[in-house]
Amino acid sequence: AVLRECHVSTEPRSFWLAGRPATGSGSFPVVNPYTGETIAEVSIPTDAQVEEAVAAAHSAVATAGALPAHARAAALDHVARRLGERSEEIAALITAENGKPVKWAKAEVGRAVSVFRWAAEETRRFGGELQRLDTDAAATGRAAIVRRFAKGAVLGISPFNFPLNLAAHKVAPAIAVGAPILLKPAPATPLSGLLIGELLAETDLPAGSWSILPVPNERMAALNEDPRLPVISFTGSTVVGELIQGQAPHKHVTLELGGNAAAVVLADYSSEADLDWAANRIATFSNYQAGQSCISVQRVIADAAVYDRLVGKIVEAVGRQGVGDPTDPGTDVGPLVSEAAAERVEQWVDEAVAAGATLLAGGKREGASYAPTVLADVPADAKVVREEVFGPVLVLQRVEGTDEAFKLVNDSQFGLQAGVFTHDIQAAFRAHRELEVGGVIVGDVPSFRADQMPYGGTKNSGVGREGVKYAMADYTYERVLVLTGI
Ligand code: NAD
Repeated sequence: AVLRECHVSTEPRSFWLAGRPATGSGSFPVVNPYTGETIAEVSIPTDAQVEEAVAAAHSAVATAGALPAHARAAALDHVARRLGERSEEIAALITAENGKPVKWAKAEVGRAVSVFRWAAEETRRFGGELQRLDTDAAATGRAAIVRRFAKGAVLGISPFNFPLNLAAHKVAPAIAVGAPILLKPAPATPLSGLLIGELLAETDLPAGSWSILPVPNERMAALNEDPRLPVISFTGSTVVGELIQGQAPHKHVTLELGGNAAAVVLADYSSEADLDWAANRIATFSNYQAGQSCISVQRVIADAAVYDRLVGKIVEAVGRQGVGDPTDPGTDVGPLVSEAAAERVEQWVDEAVAAGATLLAGGKREGASYAPTVLADVPADAKVVREEVFGPVLVLQRVEGTDEAFKLVNDSQFGLQAGVFTHDIQAAFRAHRELEVGGVIVGDVPSFRADQMPYGGTKNSGVGREGVKYAMADYTYERVLVLTGI
């Protein structure tokens, strides 16, 4: 239904201003990266409308904070239920604006449902503590009530690659703690973020407490700097994240940035079944979403004892990836978000090959689509090793032993997650101690994420953690009430 409406609609889509649909001045197109077709025009808010949304968010801090936990949880449960009921249609919308194969789009809707559900659960649990202070003689007769209060309104900024779920990561924890939220979705994929507004509009949340505004990037500095939005939760590229941090030095800024995640295969992971599992998971999660995930497998670091057998299986498994039309339920790999993005990936692969890398699979571009690609013998300083490729490209690296493997994982400007294929519990503990990342996944690829677990990076991959309850902690601060004579 949504797609049909997209095709026939000539009116620009409205955005959400203080809980109401509104249109502004001018519009921008949303283009299906697979068909090249414009599927919608989205209205652009004026400066006055942006000001109205910020002022509304700021003045809703008290009303949103005073909303009882049962009401906040009910609103979150409602959104979860409605996302579930409309999942087919929403998955089709994600596929249309992002190019993501529909099977992955369905998975994304499922994750967003659980994010809102978890947020409802955490709202019911989120409390505080009573602390006795009379363990110190000087505090005899005293106790403290410690409660968490929202720091203020949240500016949530989300990227194109999970347009629904990463928007959910900003919105749901804000509602859970009673903080107003102003969401700014990515310009390539604003429709999924705007759709969350349709569901929020069905709840009893105070209207002023939420807005979803597709503000153009060049006008974002004013919002980044605005003291009425003291919390910024940003997911996107390292370069934009650093820019925002520079513009908001006094704010609480959470940055979920890029990565070049590694999957390590240690010598003990050597049976046929082990290597089949590792190769299949690596092939799937270097290509899912055409490699456009911050924890997609970019580097495979394999012990020489298993390297040759593993590589054979990876190349076979990559060859089995179904490439093509993202609306086909059998498709594993669709287009990148734009032709320009695919051209950049092509250029980085061509540079690596010119510098001596061996192309074992792929290396071809057609429009916005780039074939699943496997490279070996890549010079250590190639962009496909050092930078974030954000495309369906895998770099194979052979190492001798665990020391060298872990050293190579850490030889990166990034540190989001790492996968370690091993059965050795001591190697798993060691990985946990030594790898400079936000998460170590044992027995699987680095791309595993469940939305309740703490998630985030080290180094240029960001600061702070998401995961519903961790974001709730980030959006709030403890305020203590000391009681005398208790
Ligand atoms: P991007 O940085 O280009 O854009 C992200 C968002 O920032 C968009 O909404 C964009 O409009 C906005 N933006 C751009 N300029 C801005 C400015 N000056 N001020 C405020 N906002 C501004 O990123 P993208 O291309 O949409 O997404 C891909 C990137 O996101 C990759 O680097 C990927 O690794 C990263 N990512 C990280 C995580 C994580 O959790 N660590 C998850 C997904 C994606």
